[in-house]
Amino acid sequence: MRIDIITVLPELIGSPLDHSIVKRAREKGLVEINLVHLREFTNDRHKSVDDYPFGGGAGMVMKIEPVYRAIEHLKSQRFYDEIIYTSPDGEPFTQKMANELALKQNIIILAGHYKGVDHRIRENLITREISIGDYVLSGGEMPAAVIADAVVRLIPGAITDEQSALLDSFQDDLLSPPVYTRPASFMGWKVPDILLSGHTGEIEKWRHEQSVERTRKLRPGLMKE
Ligand code: SAM
Repeated sequence: MRIDIITVLPELIGSPLDHSIVKRAREKGLVEINLVHLREFTNDRHKSVDDYPFGGGAGMVMKIEPVYRAIEHLKSQRFYDEIIYTSPDGEPFTQKMANELALKQNIIILAGHYKGVDHRIRENLITREISIGDYVLSGGEMPAAVIADAVVRLIPGAITDEQSALLDSFQDDLLSPPVYTRPASFMGWKVPDILLSGHTGEIEKWRHEQSVERTRKLRPGLMKE
């Protein structure tokens, strides 16, 4: 899989995608993550990527030409399954969406800035718009990193114990059960006996019950009818 992230602030996004599972997936060749510097697609002296909004008002708008050139440049090299724009008014990002994106070959993520991008980019170049939550961040770099991380950990082989990703919260519309490690007792706080019993079947049953109970209590909206 290949993820190209178009950004005006590559320094903001490099580090989160250069550690832990994502780093290992990149090293294993399971995913190629490429940061595309939008300013390299400008052709004025100041490398401007923004301009004043038509109609007046506060803030700046990301210009159409550099974004168009960056996307066309990438598209001239390979086919892209999705060209995503990160936006607070996009589809809410979910585990289901991450699962879908993990099956794609090549995706572009365009990180917005300022008041956002010239709307013609969204109308003509973007295939999907994704929000990571109902709040406004200063730029799309962190949303792009969130999307890339959630997707990359689902690529087969990215996590050593593949079962572990399948048992995460939101797979099967259930929250994950509680987890514990040694010591079995700390300050009198004990690990549930069942987890020390060695009865694999009973442990799996307990975990499932805990998942159902926690989902019902904490996120009842996730439960299927
Ligand atoms: N004026 C825009 C609005 O009200 O929808 C917000 C612009 S925001 C300051 C700048 C950029 O950050 C956006 O274009 C988008 O790319 C990104 N961004 C901010 N919050 C986001 C969120 N919750 N999800 C995804 N992207 C977000």
